[in-house]
Amino acid sequence: MQPRRTETPEREVRRHIVEVCRRIYARGWITSTDGNVSALLSPDRILCTPTGINKGTMSEDDLIVIDRRGNKVSGTRPPSSEILMHLAAFDARPDVGGVVHAHPTNCIAFSLAGITLAQCLLPEIVFTFGSIPTTAYTTPTTPEVPDEVRKWLRDFDAMILDRHGSLTVGTDVFAAYDKLERMEHVAEITFRARMLGPIRPLAREQVERLREVGRGLGLPDRKILPLPCDHCNACPGYHAPATEPLGREPAAPAAEALPRPTDVNAMIRRATETMEQALRRR
Ligand SMILES: [Zn+2]
Repeated sequence: MQPRRTETPEREVRRHIVEVCRRIYARGWITSTDGNVSALLSPDRILCTPTGINKGTMSEDDLIVIDRRGNKVSGTRPPSSEILMHLAAFDARPDVGGVVHAHPTNCIAFSLAGITLAQCLLPEIVFTFGSIPTTAYTTPTTPEVPDEVRKWLRDFDAMILDRHGSLTVGTDVFAAYDKLERMEHVAEITFRARMLGPIRPLAREQVERLREVGRGLGLPDRKILPLPCDHCNACPGYHAPATEPLGREPAAPAAEALPRPTDVNAMIRRATETMEQALRRR
């Protein structure tokens, strides 16, 4: 991880944060006072959105400056209660210059349904993200949040916070925003694909080939999370329990979670009968 080198003038960074907030608000990935955005101004100063303000109408003067411990240095409003995870991101990664937290609709919907987005579905995602993890549920505004995201930030630039939203990091706020946009787009495509029927994740060999190509192109090696299954979405371990962190090494499915052979036979019999009835009606 290369540390960031350039320092953009503060007035420009203010403009960038306001622009990013407007984009997130316009896409409907935050409403009212949701979400927060921050940027590193210098090694010990962070510019961030304050608490309790609508990000669609916020101005550059509403932003506040804090130190690396979250104490306000300048500005009128208090810092966001979610600033702890931003501080964790800057502390964990010297390459991070911008952090974006939003509440993107499809990403949150997947986390509520207990369905992981960590499967490799689209080739460009293998290049850009590797896997998209879902963190364990943590109580918003408490130190549980930074403690949990710190574990994932080591390997990932974009993650879904269970029942809460997204966290993306980049060299600046626009880079962090682009990752949010890409992650939510994947979530939307996946949602639509799942409406059409079972989805077909990339096979292990296809993922390995992509990683080889990525290495050849000089792209950083992205981490791929192990999943219960890489060729179907029907195995019992696929829908991880909502209280468990998603996308980690799966525990062996409980015996009672497996469909019993008699259930399977009954399902096949019902499906066959339905098909036969439909054919008879034609
Ligand atoms: Zn939030």
